[in-house]
Amino acid sequence: MNVPFSYLQRQFSELDGYLADLRELVSSGSLTLGHAVSEFERGFAALHGVPHAIGVGSGTDALVVALHALGLQPGDEVITCTNTFVATVGAIVHAGGKPVLVDSENGYVIDVDQVEAAVTSRTRAILAVHYTGNVADMPRLRAIADRRGLALVEDACQATLGGINGRSVGSWGDATAFSLHPLKNLNVWGDGGLILTPSADLAARIRLYCNHGLIDRDTCAEFGINSRLDAVQAVIGSRLMRDLPAMSARQIANAARYDAAFGELGDCVDVPVRRPGVRHVYHLYIVRAKRRDALLAHLERSGVRAKIHYPRPVHLQPAARGLGYREGQFPMAEEHGRVAITLPAHPYLTDDEVSYTIEQVRQFYRS
Ligand SMILES: *Cc1c(COP(=O)(O)O)cnc(C)c1O
Repeated sequence: MNVPFSYLQRQFSELDGYLADLRELVSSGSLTLGHAVSEFERGFAALHGVPHAIGVGSGTDALVVALHALGLQPGDEVITCTNTFVATVGAIVHAGGKPVLVDSENGYVIDVDQVEAAVTSRTRAILAVHYTGNVADMPRLRAIADRRGLALVEDACQATLGGINGRSVGSWGDATAFSLHPLKNLNVWGDGGLILTPSADLAARIRLYCNHGLIDRDTCAEFGINSRLDAVQAVIGSRLMRDLPAMSARQIANAARYDAAFGELGDCVDVPVRRPGVRHVYHLYIVRAKRRDALLAHLERSGVRAKIHYPRPVHLQPAARGLGYREGQFPMAEEHGRVAITLPAHPYLTDDEVSYTIEQVRQFYRS
């Protein structure tokens, strides 16, 4: 059996519906902004119960633009977690800020006690990453941000439809970034991203900045950038979004099957933990495994395509040399890099493929 990590081939095995929607778009002639984009934005905002959504060029752009629109000034400190995809930290640098890294709790989401301790007079924002689809402790982070007068941004690039205490990601922060990259929970046919915000004023500023600062065709209010969600991608996103709640439920169910099965393997496998009240959407189903590299090789031989996210946390990347961190400083994230393994859990897996994956992991620890 071959259990694929990526689902794209399965998702697009039936193309006719997409092509019909695209034909309609092309004949309408609105390929930038326009109806297709605003309809997608409205649907995405409604799905998360947040008033405003703005389509942008990528998840990375969403982060850079959100920080910029919130008024980040050169040298302002932004606190975030070292255990994330590099784009989180790259975005802070490109928005002109100084990343201040802290460790994660249990290897997954940002450790809020360390956030408190890292606040200085130069701190301007907290950037909470909902890493793996787990959700950071937003009630506590919101309270800290309010008490200290800081902006709160969510990196929900891995957490579409995640939530905590019945409130969706995107409803806690001043602005929240989402990615539509082909490997994320809601994807398009290339790059794309979205920003959610509860603020009409911030939404208007973001729209202006991402469309060259043009208030009308001939008037530039400020020098901005070009980062828009292509209408072609909005059409694909709208179509996939119809199935998203069901797909997300299926992914959570796959994770629950893994949790139950691996829970029986004692201390060989630690299943992902989440705080009470969290709707974890398992963009990545990551376990911490004994003899991780041997398990990875065993799965590879058995046709189960597992991956490592990520072997090296951001503070140990060559790009981070100038930030002044050293090995040993963030033990949770560093240990995570050594023991974590990501198993395929996407909603296009069959029940048999999930069973097969479970059986392969069991077999490895039995031998
Ligand atoms: C994917 C991802 C990004 C960047 O999104 P792109 O659309 O690829 O630019 C940022 N942060 C996290 C946590 C991500 O997983």
